[in-house]
Amino acid sequence: MSVLTTADSSPTAAVDLGPAAALSCRECGERFPLSPIFACASCFGPLEIAYDLPSGDPEGLRRRIEAGPKSIWRYAPLLPVPADVASKPNLNPGFTPLVKADRLAAELGVTGPLYVKDDSGNPTHSFKDRVVAQALEAARAFGFTTLSCSSTGNLAGAVGAAAARAGLRSCVFIPHDLEQGKVVMAAVYGGQVVAIEGSYDDVNRFCSELIGDPLGEGWGFVNVNLRPYYAEGSKTLAFEICEQLGWQLPDQLVIPIASGSQLTKIDKGLKELIATGLVEEKPYRIFGAQAEGCSPVSQAFRAGHDVVRPVKPNTIAKSLAIGNPADGPYVLDIARRTGGAVADVTDEEIVSAIKLLARTEGIFTETAGGVTLGVARKLLAEGTLDPSLTTVVVNTGDGLKTLDAVAADTGPTATIRPTLDSFREAGLE
Ligand SMILES: *Cc1c(COP(=O)(O)O)cnc(C)c1O
Ligand SMILES: [Zn+2]
Repeated sequence: MSVLTTADSSPTAAVDLGPAAALSCRECGERFPLSPIFACASCFGPLEIAYDLPSGDPEGLRRRIEAGPKSIWRYAPLLPVPADVASKPNLNPGFTPLVKADRLAAELGVTGPLYVKDDSGNPTHSFKDRVVAQALEAARAFGFTTLSCSSTGNLAGAVGAAAARAGLRSCVFIPHDLEQGKVVMAAVYGGQVVAIEGSYDDVNRFCSELIGDPLGEGWGFVNVNLRPYYAEGSKTLAFEICEQLGWQLPDQLVIPIASGSQLTKIDKGLKELIATGLVEEKPYRIFGAQAEGCSPVSQAFRAGHDVVRPVKPNTIAKSLAIGNPADGPYVLDIARRTGGAVADVTDEEIVSAIKLLARTEGIFTETAGGVTLGVARKLLAEGTLDPSLTTVVVNTGDGLKTLDAVAADTGPTATIRPTLDSFREAGLE
């Protein structure tokens, strides 16, 4: 593949990505210099970032973070980005609210503190701004001039916006049957948007081919050849949640699964907080959420398998519709190791959970959030989630992008003439 032979991947090319020291294979541990590669040359295992993390002075590090910008860049000492990252043109995502959801808790019979980490307020209204911001720094470091991705919807918008802010070209690839809100969000930033006649898994396969072809020369695919860097952005959710809890680990987290990258990196982030002494170690449990119509990881969990058999997705939760999730096996490991679980809910349960969150907490989530809250509700009812513990449900997107999911039976309570008589007749008082 051409990406393996660019000058950038030579060990002598000095790349400043802060504390990031090397790429390391998740399977065999072999190390590679920081470069735009994503698979181990020896065993084809996925690569992830290895760090020289700050050590010895957790108090000092905590103070430095707290004095930092109100964005993910306060955690720059723990991310693969140069120290001056906040001064470069980027969308400065993150530091989103951790909402104490007391009314939701009451409705669900939860007695311990329940929080919603609400990422709907990011610059392009999903958690994807976090991961794209890391990939953008890697793209700059490696000299890429086009930012690209295969997207289930939200990523396309996040890449388009980040490229616009940074002054890069963008060309993103989406399945042809996405929600209008996602397509408009992808296209409005002025980059190229290519709709592919096929599923997300077809789009992803196509992008892998494009990377190996001269046509894709100079292209940084945020979730393919820049994936090790991109993925680290999800750690910032773990960092923020713990800082917002007063530098403490939560007991239970419920996280949606598309490729499984976000869930695995939230776990990595929690482990790095423990390793650096920023939080005190204690057990935590991680729960994964899928839609029944695309539930390969949940099915494997239930069956006790450690491989994930690909499925053909059919669900309203399109942002999670990855039938062949790259990080599926790692999600299974984490759920089992931490004493968590992976479960799924039907499209009806997704819609019901969207409305529940809106009605109780004033948060309008997209279908992915409906999946996550729906699964939390189901696991509470089953007794799998402990209602007495500190629980965080991660809301990764904004309901305005998936209006169709709830539009059918959500509208005016009454339509009246502009007279008091007409209002009285409507019987609303
Ligand atoms: C992409 C996405 C996810 C999770 O993606 P992973 O591939 O599992 O990291 C979750 N929610 C929303 C809304 C997304 O767009
Ligand atoms: Zn390897």
